[in-house]
Amino acid sequence: MAGIYVHIPFCRQKCRYCDFASFPDKIGFAESYMACVYREMAMRSPELKDYSFDTLYIGGGTPSVIDESYIAMLVAAAKKNFNLAKNAEITIELNPGTVSASKIDLYKKVGINRFSVGLQTANDKLLADLGRIHTLNQFITCAKLLKGQNFSVDIMIGLKGQSLEDISQAIEVAAAFGASHISMYALTPEDGTPIYTDYLNGELPDSDEVAEQYAFGVKKLKELGFERYEVSNFCKKGKESRHNLNYWRRGEYIGFGVSASSHIKNVRFTNTFDLDEYFKCIISNHFAVIDRTEISFDEQKDEYVMLALRTTAGVDTAEYERLFKVPFAREYAPAIKKYEAYLDIADGRVRIKDEYLFVQNTIIIDFLET
Ligand code: SF4
Repeated sequence: MAGIYVHIPFCRQKCRYCDFASFPDKIGFAESYMACVYREMAMRSPELKDYSFDTLYIGGGTPSVIDESYIAMLVAAAKKNFNLAKNAEITIELNPGTVSASKIDLYKKVGINRFSVGLQTANDKLLADLGRIHTLNQFITCAKLLKGQNFSVDIMIGLKGQSLEDISQAIEVAAAFGASHISMYALTPEDGTPIYTDYLNGELPDSDEVAEQYAFGVKKLKELGFERYEVSNFCKKGKESRHNLNYWRRGEYIGFGVSASSHIKNVRFTNTFDLDEYFKCIISNHFAVIDRTEISFDEQKDEYVMLALRTTAGVDTAEYERLFKVPFAREYAPAIKKYEAYLDIADGRVRIKDEYLFVQNTIIIDFLET
């Protein structure tokens, strides 16, 4: 099974921490952009006719900022051009400042069955500091519109002036209004974003403080019935994101739109980040790929291990041997020995122990250098 990702690069305004491909001043091009995305899907369709897709993820940017009729046509285009399973997980990202009852109704009507809502924090002052366009009240209105639906909420830690109480409140609000899944991410101050100045000024929490916030958040999430299945992702039983699980299992996926990346037949490729360039390519019936890398056999092994160790399921050693014809324990013997105390090795799996998952990067780097 494989996934489809579609990138909608429009937002109402740029958040202070954002370095994604999103263009607040180009929202007037939404209609032309979506026409190009439908065309790109039709162009890709023949080479993927033997694939079955079981997830469609509409992300951004802010997919909910454009007219809902474009989203309806997008889902129709995906179904027309690809074998999308009847029970496919179809997710759309929502910004609470851009939703309405009629939008949600149409999303549901066309088969969207999972929603990912960007709350980030329940503190209105912190939301304003981040440059988010919505308030806590708008999130609550959005969550009420999603009552009974399968929805996820994004929460951030590592924010300037953020207290443990703020984190607790964000998690409680998400849980109280029915979220079945919560993603809790640490802010990454990217060079070139306004928030990077806060970082340079020493105004953001340091790594020890963020680690404390993370541990606090994990505990709170557990108390409210959210089990961790990946370092930043937590859910109620059976509510894992199938789309993201496919990424972490090194599954195949095809991406459409500006900056979208793909992984098909051990080749990773990425579309241009430049909106004008994207238009020019697609209108002239060319793909907009700017970067294409074939993944060597050794790199495939490294990717498999790196992605699996991020999850609580860890490495399935029998699957590793089936895929790569060599026992995992032999291939990674030095790293396994070095990190024995940090690993759970049982039931045919090698996992990083819960308490060390937040610092998995150091451990994973050593596995890759084995
Ligand atoms: S809503 Fe998301 S994509 Fe848009 S500017 Fe903010 S962080 Fe970036």
